[in-house]
Amino acid sequence: MILDNTNLKAVLFDMDGVLFNSMPYHSKAWNEAMQEFNLDLSREEAYMHEGRTGAGTINIVYQRQHGTDATEELIENIYQVKSRIFNSFPEAQPMPGALELLQKVKAAGLKIILVTGSGQRSLLDRLQVHYPNMFTPELMVTAYDVKHGKPHPEPYLLGLEKGGIKANEALVIENAPLGVEAAVAAKICTIAVNTGPIPDKALQDAGANLLYPSMQCLAEAWDKLISKKQ
Ligand code: MG
Repeated sequence: MILDNTNLKAVLFDMDGVLFNSMPYHSKAWNEAMQEFNLDLSREEAYMHEGRTGAGTINIVYQRQHGTDATEELIENIYQVKSRIFNSFPEAQPMPGALELLQKVKAAGLKIILVTGSGQRSLLDRLQVHYPNMFTPELMVTAYDVKHGKPHPEPYLLGLEKGGIKANEALVIENAPLGVEAAVAAKICTIAVNTGPIPDKALQDAGANLLYPSMQCLAEAWDKLISKKQ
């Protein structure tokens, strides 16, 4: 499939697992935080919940073991522990290939919009360090902006709104099945990059229009991908 870029005006980027190689740390932090509260969430499963709000993930695990919702207080406590553990790890490195892709997108005159479920200030602050002048606060959707996390389309719909663009004028880059689901539900053409340990099938089943094994591969394929149809 070659994208018809006649209408293309913006590319919406997810952050964790797309711009930063942060998912190994997130999944480890989730696993260890849950253990402190006698809750079971394997690192592998944590990848499948990527994109949900912290509260959403905690509630699914708590419900499964206790058959009832976690209290707001408990959710807050677990999330605090998870954030503390995450922040104790080394800084997540930029994803190889991401800067190259952002430079190509910018050179093509397309808007760059961030759509993340993350509320980790440490990573948000580091966007400017590793990707200087690529992101602006007006074109960012974070955990602080939305009521619903992915797979709900709200984050991506808000991204379109902030960019002043329509769904058929945009493209999404995502690494998580729930993120792909959210983008597809917002009716945006979605490119999945499988930068983690999950099977390709999980991203395809979520509805990804295209799939690449890494950001580097996507960056290399970009020019061909968005070249106008002959
Ligand atoms: Mg992600």
